[in-house]
Amino acid sequence: MAEHIHCLIIGSGPAGYTAAVYAARANMKPVLYTGNQPGGQLTITTDVENYPGYPNGIGGPEMMMDFQAQAERFGTEVRYSMITKVDFSGPVHKVWAEDGTEIHADTVIISTGASAKWLGIDKEKFFAENGGGVSACAVCDGFFFKGQEVAVVGAGDTASEEALYLANLCPKVHLIVRRDEMRASKIMQKRVLAKENIIIHWNSNTKELVGDKKLTSIKIENNKTNELTELPVTGFFVAIGHKPNTGIFKDWLDMDSTGYLITKADSSKTNVPGVFASGDAQDNVYRQAVTAAGTGCMAALDAERYLGEQGIV
Ligand code: NDP
Repeated sequence: MAEHIHCLIIGSGPAGYTAAVYAARANMKPVLYTGNQPGGQLTITTDVENYPGYPNGIGGPEMMMDFQAQAERFGTEVRYSMITKVDFSGPVHKVWAEDGTEIHADTVIISTGASAKWLGIDKEKFFAENGGGVSACAVCDGFFFKGQEVAVVGAGDTASEEALYLANLCPKVHLIVRRDEMRASKIMQKRVLAKENIIIHWNSNTKELVGDKKLTSIKIENNKTNELTELPVTGFFVAIGHKPNTGIFKDWLDMDSTGYLITKADSSKTNVPGVFASGDAQDNVYRQAVTAAGTGCMAALDAERYLGEQGIV
């Protein structure tokens, strides 16, 4: 027997929990599936200082516990499980959880987020998860490295943006580029090249992150000459792209070539009526907790209107 609900929210980052707060307060009785990283990407950051309302900053995991508590306070049912399959072919949206539970949802809010890509080298994850000086978000964590020498790896628009952001805070920013050219848009390349305190290391790969509890330097290798160089950086920013967590929707929803869900202008509506997208799963430009929360709110309001238009609640 399938379970029938009015509003299913998939994902538990700022977008999902904000959608849940609004949906629960609108009496839509939302059920939220957390996915396999309850709390989302913020649970692997340390302090969050740019989310309004926390004048002294707050730990990422703690902030997400606050989000959850607020959503639950109004009656959101939170389930620690994954949604593994969907069928959006009819007016009732069919969804399956990993334990086989079949859910028929009048509305679905997708807030599955995106995952930063990592290099996969030794100590990278450890430093990233323990405030050791490795991060995938300069806007989030760059401030902690003010006045220090740092490195960014990557050569796209994100890496360029991160390097430029850091160059205003740090005396020296090393940009580690694996080829002899950058993928970033011409204008971003121009800005990076014009910035005096950004030093580009072409044809270079990061070989080692040095340090015990915290990063003290990195070793990079020139892949043409095999020359090894040690850079005395205390911050290492990985900006080699993100991957939206949208694979299970590919047969049903419009997405761009990299998998970001496409929403209709000025709304959270996808191409399937009753299915809405919010947060990083549909945003490859801003990717901030506060913008994700904003689009989560939009999705809940759009879902509420949809239920009203269909005469469901
Ligand atoms: P991209 O996929 O565009 O770039 C990833 C970069 O990381 C590439 O230069 C790639 O190198 C490099 N890279 C990938 N894997 C490795 C690795 N293992 N080691 C070293 N380097 C690696 O991702 P972005 O996040 O930069 O951008 C994603 C999309 O978002 C783009 O369309 C971009 O234009 C857009 N964007 C737009 C912004 C804006 O408009 N303000 C801001 C940020 C992003 P290589 O080139 O050799 O493959």
